[in-house]
Amino acid sequence: MALRTLTTGGAPWRVLIAGGSYAGLSAALNLLDLCEGRPPRFNPAFKFEDIPAVFTGKLTRRIPVEITIVDERDGYYHLIGSPLALASKEYAAKAWVNFKNVPALQDPSIKVTQGSIESVDCEAHKATISLHASQRKETLQYDYFIAATGLRRPWPVVPQSLTRETYLAETAGNIESCQDSVIVIGGGAVGVETAAELKLVRPATRVTLVHSRQQLLSAEPLPGEFKDAVAPLVREAGVELVLGQRVAYYAERNSCPESNLTLHTDDNIPSVCCPGRRGYVKIEPTLHFSGADHHFAIGDVARWSGIKRCGGAMHMGHHAAHNIYQELVSQRIVPDEAEAHRKPDYLELNEFPPVIGLAVGRKAISYVAEQGVKQGEEVLQMMFGDDLGWSICWNYMKLGDKNLVPGDEQDLGLRELELGGTVEKERLEMINGKGGERVAVSEVVAAVA
Ligand SMILES: Cc1cc2nc3c(=O)[nH]c(=O)nc-3n(C[C@H](O)[C@H](O)[C@H](O)COP(=O)(O)OP(=O)(O)OC[C@H]3O[C@@H](n4cnc5c(N)ncnc54)[C@H](O)[C@@H]3O)c2cc1C
Repeated sequence: MALRTLTTGGAPWRVLIAGGSYAGLSAALNLLDLCEGRPPRFNPAFKFEDIPAVFTGKLTRRIPVEITIVDERDGYYHLIGSPLALASKEYAAKAWVNFKNVPALQDPSIKVTQGSIESVDCEAHKATISLHASQRKETLQYDYFIAATGLRRPWPVVPQSLTRETYLAETAGNIESCQDSVIVIGGGAVGVETAAELKLVRPATRVTLVHSRQQLLSAEPLPGEFKDAVAPLVREAGVELVLGQRVAYYAERNSCPESNLTLHTDDNIPSVCCPGRRGYVKIEPTLHFSGADHHFAIGDVARWSGIKRCGGAMHMGHHAAHNIYQELVSQRIVPDEAEAHRKPDYLELNEFPPVIGLAVGRKAISYVAEQGVKQGEEVLQMMFGDDLGWSICWNYMKLGDKNLVPGDEQDLGLRELELGGTVEKERLEMINGKGGERVAVSEVVAAVA
């Protein structure tokens, strides 16, 4: 179906985003910035003047847009914090913020709907949504669609509740069951963090991590040096480690520990709502679905290299926003404009090298190719702060900021990311080495978060 064209001042472009987490919110807010004439929050150095038609004064930078975010949950959930949310009531309350309480989303151009996207008709540009509040189904017409639905992760990897209220009850129930001893099954990143956070918050609970292979994180594309360094950290955190055994075999031969709770931490599948696109969504480097214009996939649901991480998800969200804005601009360019000016100036995604940051109790361990393996309390502080990355993600996406009145240049200056601060400087050095060149802020967060 041909995309409708608009002249300046026409009806807003309708952008439908499935999933309101790291990827979806990053796409929504960076697109809003651009369409309201501000540099996108992940790239304060962006210059509208670099777009020829804006430079020649043939177009204004502002484009009317109507962004609808549909999410099954009623709030932004800091997924990375799940291991701690399942162990601490105070943290659980912090980790989930209702969308209506996220200041950056309170904008007339953004609408958030709680519901499940059930199907998408890429030809007709229509999506069917099952609305949670009314139990009704609704069909939404859109101009652009962004799939940011992540992976379906089972309990106890992630709480399964869809409202903050039920989530608080769900996590509280888990915390109360973790009294005497707990067996965590699966020594991937989630299993390691879950076991270590539990032990940190409840030192009296006996926590055992069982993994079928001899090395933790055995399935990840990471060097042996990193994998070998994780086990001592886990033991140092007070977690008992059983390697090279399957849990049924282990339980049969050991009277102890008698666990009153067993947590399985494996098995995730992509949450895909587009027919014919089972599993991960195949994308081009521009983040378009392969073979479907005006449709983008970002974050965990997209098939791309590297370890699935929230930094990568936010980075993709920014790229999708940039590329949609470029297409909107090129749609509006007058026919007599030079052909070259009408081509969208896309950002293309590079391959993601394997990068990881793993919180293990009071320490963290990281691997970045140029830096090798690093570990310690200072690594935890740098990569996760003191709240398992909640503040880092919240601040990076500027979820606490009310959007500015467009064109207020003084405020624009204030909103620019401060790269001079110590933490940002150290983060840059982790990626680039001491005295290394600056790279785009989103590249940095993509690499370390
Ligand atoms: C326990 C744990 C710890 C982690 N630790 C780290 C870490 O330390 N660092 C790091 O970088 N990464 C970490 N990750 C990975 C990181 O969380 C993911 O890479 C990130 O969440 C991907 O973001 P996303 O926006 O693509 O998807 P998600 O965060 O999974 O969000 C998808 C959203 O889509 C919604 N949704 C799903 N299906 C539908 C549908 N059909 N209709 C409407 N809405 C839908 C969901 O409700 C959800 O809000 C961790 C993951 C886990 C599970």
